Amino acid sequence: MTTSTQPGVLATAPAGTAAARATDLSKVYGTGETQVVALDHVSVEFLRGEFTAIMGPSGSGKSTLMHCMAGLDSVSSGSASIGETELTTLKDKKLTRLRRDKIGFIFQAFNLLPTLNALENITLPLDIAGRKTDRAWLDQVVDTVGLSGRLKHRPSQLSGGQQQRVAVARALASRPEIVFGDEPTGNLDSRSGAEVLGFLRNSVRELNQTVVIVTHDPVAASYADRVVFLADGRIVDDMAAPTAEKVLERMKGFEAKGRTS
Ligand code: ADP
Repeated sequence: MTTSTQPGVLATAPAGTAAARATDLSKVYGTGETQVVALDHVSVEFLRGEFTAIMGPSGSGKSTLMHCMAGLDSVSSGSASIGETELTTLKDKKLTRLRRDKIGFIFQAFNLLPTLNALENITLPLDIAGRKTDRAWLDQVVDTVGLSGRLKHRPSQLSGGQQQRVAVARALASRPEIVFGDEPTGNLDSRSGAEVLGFLRNSVRELNQTVVIVTHDPVAASYADRVVFLADGRIVDDMAAPTAEKVLERMKGFEAKGRTS
């Protein structure tokens, strides 16, 4: 059992509670004729220590959902919270601090600084925030993402997969409440992608991290514990213990529907 006092395990909330929650969340872009309902009354919870993939056709609202839940975009109605903190009522400064302290981000482009070595890139957000690095935690993260021998290397001396693992370690270094990844393996070949997804899964299994990724790839989704499917701004399916085959079958359903509608 993981408890909040166990060393090396995230301590912010007990297992089984929601790390992030959207309640009746809607997001509308534009007005009048050009209005687009990107999210239509979405309610979803991401449980602590769970790895979730968000899937759905292009334009179904995946990025919007992630951005609203990560406090990167405002909501039109409804609410979004990280842990116990409601985002929609936070003023800019508090929202910025919450994003910095409670949320880790991994993007498709690795966004590493070329002049810093791997370790310096990993600790940069903490250094900027003036926070002390928790050395034991950092060692564990570096170990989990398999970078121990590479910390002095600059990004240009690392493969794409290794660079994205540095970005994963950077996202985990502050012990965030939740890590959001927007197509985190979209720029990687399949072997490097598998490495990164394996490390993300390890961070969930071994460090009790909570991870949510947006992906188009059924194989990537199969690393998750759960797949949430969006279509037209609504959640249309929620699959536990996904396999690439099951996910592919479900996606074919969307394509068939798209052809007849
Ligand atoms: P996905 O990530 O599933 O491809 P998005 O969340 O990017 O979908 O987009 C959902 C819908 O909202 C789409 O119809 C898209 O065109 C629209 N949309 C997204 N961002 C904006 C924006 N900044 N302004 C206007 N419409 C937007």
